[in-house]
Amino acid sequence: MEIAEWEKRYVEAVSNVREQLGNVQGVFVAYNSNVDAMKHIRENEIKKLIAIIGQEELRERIVSYPREIKDPADFVARLIIAMRDGKAAEVPTYTTDLHEWLMDNLVFDSARMGGQAGIISNLLANLGVKNVITYVPWLAKEQAEHFVDSPNLKHPVIENGKLYLKHPKDAYDPFQKPKINWIIEFSRGMKVRCAGEEFEVPRDNRLIVSSRPKWIRIDMSPEMYEQLSDIREDIDGAILAGYQMIREEYEDGTTYRDYVQRAVSVIERLKGCNPQMRIHVEFTSIQNKLIRRTLLKDIVKKHVTSLGLDTVEVANALNVLGYEELAYSVIKKGENSIVSLYEGAVRLLKELELQRVHLHSLGYYICVVAKDHPLDADSHRQALLFASALAATQATLGSIQSIDDVDVGLDVPVYTDGYDDLIELEKYLVRGGICTAEDFEDGCITADGHDLIIVPSKVVNEPVATVGIGDAISAGAFIALLAKMPKINICNL
Ligand code: ADP
Repeated sequence: MEIAEWEKRYVEAVSNVREQLGNVQGVFVAYNSNVDAMKHIRENEIKKLIAIIGQEELRERIVSYPREIKDPADFVARLIIAMRDGKAAEVPTYTTDLHEWLMDNLVFDSARMGGQAGIISNLLANLGVKNVITYVPWLAKEQAEHFVDSPNLKHPVIENGKLYLKHPKDAYDPFQKPKINWIIEFSRGMKVRCAGEEFEVPRDNRLIVSSRPKWIRIDMSPEMYEQLSDIREDIDGAILAGYQMIREEYEDGTTYRDYVQRAVSVIERLKGCNPQMRIHVEFTSIQNKLIRRTLLKDIVKKHVTSLGLDTVEVANALNVLGYEELAYSVIKKGENSIVSLYEGAVRLLKELELQRVHLHSLGYYICVVAKDHPLDADSHRQALLFASALAATQATLGSIQSIDDVDVGLDVPVYTDGYDDLIELEKYLVRGGICTAEDFEDGCITADGHDLIIVPSKVVNEPVATVGIGDAISAGAFIALLAKMPKINICNL
């Protein structure tokens, strides 16, 4: 299909999905929201921080290269290392003490919503989805303030033993401390003198201090869990993310097994008697291989219907599932990597017993769908095209305030490099007799019994921001599918 034809299909798909969005009764979104405190650091400020810690202390810390931030000296040392090398870095801290110190000694320029679940909740609320029921286990006042102030965005709260849905600003726990990640940006050319060394920052980049206080739990109170079934009628599906926060062991003797068990129970509770309930998990990078494997095998497999991920995450997932060679070939970036991606997506679909695997890359999206999925290939393709228009809107504007903004993304042209990559995959599939060239463009039903839907995506040349584009893609496609799903309430049959 020519690019001009794809552009026409984009217009049709966006117009269809826009009309249908009102069919969605609601979505439950959990778990990870945090506040991103943004600070663009200046020369005089770094000088001040160095003076507070002292040159001698810093010299030692820089050499020791802290992998975790335990005190302000670790922080300043990692900041200086990042600035000296011009490299991006993300370092965890397990207390909130550093936040207090940064507030006293640096102060942020601006704060915004961070975390997959928080970003997705705000996006869906802005798109006008009827009931966006967000859930953050650590809903502090400062966190609540970063949710959009819209009546369709609600958070469950237990009052007098009963579950109510209220806007997060009326549902927060006044005793809860916020989870605040600091993002310290620095500019090329800044001059720093520290511990007898003098250097100029070689590149614009940033240090992220990711806050992992001990009280972070992917969990829910027993009362809320008990009454979760009350919200079932308000939702058609759930988007779940943040399982990467699960730790192997906790101070109180509990382990990841306890939290995996609870995470599965929440999914079961949401589904209740309705096995049609769509459950999407948004995957992310998880360093700890045990947690990564457990998430896939014990939470996603059998319990979840849909999985969203980027290309690196496909490789990471394949790796812990025992497909090391395929994982390697996905990230090798050779001309066959798109074929490996497709094969990897099929592996994930089968191995994890999913109904849908959606992977996004810069230039195209690939979706493999189990043959018993209730929607046809055309509906899946429209969902992907809508998602791509949303991603282009997000990249152009930095945030999406209403469904009308999607016209901005629609105006972004289809990325020709992505279109060319797809031709490689088409050749492979046609050569292997898996589908014909026509099928490839229309969404093909393969001999193996799954549908394959591939679209070239729209890519913005100079994006104003790249944070949250992947989240917008996955949430956009999922909501479009919910809008198209036939509405049968199995529980009432
Ligand atoms: P994040 O979690 O930060 O959103 P991901 O890696 O999950 O990052 O997703 C990034 C995705 O965003 C890419 O797969 C690509 O499809 C899309 N994307 C990145 N840059 C652009 C851009 N300039 N225009 C449109 N889409 C983009």
